[in-house]
Amino acid sequence: MGMFNRLQLPEAMECPNCSQRSKWWVQFVYSALNLSNYQIGQRLHWADWGDLEGEPGAGHVRIQGVLEGCPLCGFHLDDVDKFYTIEVYDDVIASVVKDATGNGYWESDWVVIPNC
Ligand SMILES: [Zn+2]
Repeated sequence: MGMFNRLQLPEAMECPNCSQRSKWWVQFVYSALNLSNYQIGQRLHWADWGDLEGEPGAGHVRIQGVLEGCPLCGFHLDDVDKFYTIEVYDDVIASVVKDATGNGYWESDWVVIPNC
């Protein structure tokens, strides 16, 4: 896998392995790819080091997030539970929710949602 960034899930989640609650992280491939750690509400970086994925100011962008292992014990959930959907508006991370579609990996890591 190439470079990516990380977004921390806003709600703590219990690990089925170690039974501890903590805030897990999802990895995503968008903006300047340099292992930045983001929280909901933060603005994506475009001017730091790292390759750029996408373009600044693209409006509404939907990004696929892939869950990392448990922050405390490293346990990985089953594949069906590892996909998340991140919504970005004007380069600000607005939300992250579990992807319940069961579609797995998208064809691309992100997609611009047209205004309608
Ligand atoms: Zn754990």
